[in-house]
Amino acid sequence: MTVTLSEIADNHAIEQLDKSNQDICLTDMRFFYDPLTGLPNRAKFDHYLSMLRLKDNVLNCGIAVIIIDLDKFKEINDTLGYDMGDKLIIKVSEVLASMLSNDNYILARTGGDEFGIIVSPYSMTEEIEGLVKAVILAIERPFLIEDYELHVTVSIGISQFPKDGESTDAIKKSAGIAMYESRRQGGNTYSFYTSKTSHRKYDEAGLVREMNQALESNRYMLFYQPKINLKTGCIDSLEALIRLQSTDLGIIGPDKFIPLAEKTGLIISLGEWVLRNACMQIKAWQDKGTPPMRVAVNISARQLRHRNFYEKVISIIEETEVEPTYLELEITESSVISNINSANIILKQLREHGIRVSMDDFGTGYSSLSYLREISIDTLKIDRSFLKDLCGDSGKKAIVAAIINMAHGLGLSVVAEGIETVKQLKFLVGEQCDFGQGYLFSKPISAYETERMLGKQKPLFRWA
Ligand code: C2E
Ligand code: CA
Ligand code: CA
Repeated sequence: MTVTLSEIADNHAIEQLDKSNQDICLTDMRFFYDPLTGLPNRAKFDHYLSMLRLKDNVLNCGIAVIIIDLDKFKEINDTLGYDMGDKLIIKVSEVLASMLSNDNYILARTGGDEFGIIVSPYSMTEEIEGLVKAVILAIERPFLIEDYELHVTVSIGISQFPKDGESTDAIKKSAGIAMYESRRQGGNTYSFYTSKTSHRKYDEAGLVREMNQALESNRYMLFYQPKINLKTGCIDSLEALIRLQSTDLGIIGPDKFIPLAEKTGLIISLGEWVLRNACMQIKAWQDKGTPPMRVAVNISARQLRHRNFYEKVISIIEETEVEPTYLELEITESSVISNINSANIILKQLREHGIRVSMDDFGTGYSSLSYLREISIDTLKIDRSFLKDLCGDSGKKAIVAAIINMAHGLGLSVVAEGIETVKQLKFLVGEQCDFGQGYLFSKPISAYETERMLGKQKPLFRWA
């Protein structure tokens, strides 16, 4: 009779537990399985790994640890609910289990949307590579759950014993780091652990830690950049732009941490912080007698799709006692296009409440323009990439002129962002662009500087 890998580990585990106390053994065993999928859980996975490690020290048969994490699982939970999330996890576990019935594999559910595999024995890295490629292909096939066809992908990380870590924790950590590298590459791929990956992970992990702490210790700040009425030269409104005051690195811009906040899900609480603080600032300025000014807040795709988004916005407005007409939300094409109907319901409700909505970074996402007729917005913001080298590029000029015309035809106002030169400004004014924003008028500045600028009540430019 051949003794399989899991039997050896199991027998050993039971032997160990038997030695201590039979009652404890039986109770403990129940805590070794994940109730949702019936797979071994993290504790059991760790136990197998440490047993096999001891065995490998003698037999030298090779151990690899594979961590599989679903990409964007949180989005499915957020948009379709936890029940669908659970059903998806069960389906994924079934697919994995059917592929890993061989005795060389131990499959476990090691976290919410994370599965772990131990492969032992194996002799060549190619065997592992073949396995993870097959897993990626199998998971890529759509899952039919209730009426939904769910498309999911996975990020996979692989580490090998003892090269990538001598202890159980070290091997798992290396596999996690490699998984994180796959995610960094956009997911739907696998990575073997290398010492190079670890540094990047630590940088990002450090930033994630800092981002979480900054929320508690109030180290985020909002800067404000004015939008100028191009007919009068006066400030029309402001855009709130977030910064993080890092303890080591000074002020960090949103391009560095917003994508990470979206990936980790922190964007939900961070976005709420931005909304609340922008509203509190509007109210504080009004109470001080500063000229009332509408403030636009950037809303990420994930925030907009989050259930209760509308209710959250309304409760913040009520809590901070801000008139809804002083709030504007900047959304992006990509956040509405995938689910235009449900996004539109929320946008309509917000606008009926008096909140303005603008489409940010327009022109960078989708070539189909027909959705513009359906979507409930007030303003188009032409992306700043169109303004770059605008004056020497007749093609860009034609596109910008066409966007302005089209927006006006649809009853929308137009903001051009990224205005840096007088030439650009002249062109935009000539094309009847309504509003402009850019370093030519002002960079984003602190609330204190903004207050002083608003107090002056002078046009930021005047035609001679
Ligand atoms: P965005 O919404 O397109 O914001 C405008 C960005 O362009 C700002 O960068 C601003 O400083 C920059 N900018 C403005 N005028 C000029 C100009 O004349 N020339 C050039 N080269 N750049 C100009 P910032 O503040 O670094 O923000 C970058 C992006 O981060 C924003 O792009 C927005 O997508 C995101 N972001 C900022 N704050 C938030 C926030 O509170 N929530 C979310 N979800 N995203 C935010
Ligand atoms: Ca914006
Ligand atoms: Ca923009």
